[in-house]
Amino acid sequence: MEIIRTISWMKETVRQARAENHVGGFIPTMGALHEGHLSLIRRARVDCSRVYASIFLNPAQFGPNEDLSKYPRTFERDVEQLTDAGVDVLFAPEANEIYPQGFHTYVNVEGLSERLEGRSRPGHFRGVSTVVLKLFEIVQPQFAYFGRKDAQQVRILQQMAIDLNLNVEIVVCPIVREGDGLALSSRNTYLNSEERRAASVLQHALDEARRELNAGTRDALQLQTAIGKVLSKETLARVDYVEIVDAESFQPVSSIGARPVYALLAVFIGKTRLIDNLFIAPAAGQNVPVSSL
Ligand code: AMP
Repeated sequence: MEIIRTISWMKETVRQARAENHVGGFIPTMGALHEGHLSLIRRARVDCSRVYASIFLNPAQFGPNEDLSKYPRTFERDVEQLTDAGVDVLFAPEANEIYPQGFHTYVNVEGLSERLEGRSRPGHFRGVSTVVLKLFEIVQPQFAYFGRKDAQQVRILQQMAIDLNLNVEIVVCPIVREGDGLALSSRNTYLNSEERRAASVLQHALDEARRELNAGTRDALQLQTAIGKVLSKETLARVDYVEIVDAESFQPVSSIGARPVYALLAVFIGKTRLIDNLFIAPAAGQNVPVSSL
């Protein structure tokens, strides 16, 4: 695997690959890689003849009181994992390569960026959209792979791709989980053993939502209440939000019908903020929604 640090060399590498008619797939990450990231790479390996990954801990998407300085950094291990997974090129620029002095242009996907994660983390999605657009311009991939774990993020990036007529297809991949159902996240390493045990409450809450749906519940408030009840039983958990939203607009819904929706959670376990979700899509040819992924 080739490791590239500069934008100019990355562009030249991509230009050569495109001249050879390679199909490029791209997986942007912030490093501290786990099976969730690797699942995106495996999917890209199937679809594409050149797989590009990036590791860039993007300062623009962290608030002043967030965890940029203590975010886990495991570069050497990441490189091994990416090599084993079959990545062709890793783009790993320094912050001043992406944001040189005098940088002034930001991308903001209005509306979708303001609620939920956007409200709890002001400026977060502006930082995400800006860096992903820059990375798309540098890597020029035909396909880009994102996890459904960050459901609002991928929806915002899809909207950005539509609005700015980007030549990239955004592929949404399933959430990879631990044995007890906790969604893999680089931030899980912040949890001590007691918090790690408590963190399984997110999955228990989503399991309860699934049970309610299977029992015929279609009222969003009832579903939200059932989720909240499970979370409230865990003393180490503090809910930031629980919402049932339309999967396209990310606006709250009052009932679950034919359109896909998400049950979204953000929960503090101790000081660590975790997010998770349940995607609820109508089953093909039926009126009954089924939950998946
Ligand atoms: P990050 O390094 O946190 O920016 O994540 C990079 C990509 O990996 C994003 O598209 C995430 O949605 C995705 N990702 C993170 N955790 C998981 C997971 N547990 N399952 C699937 N994808 C994930």
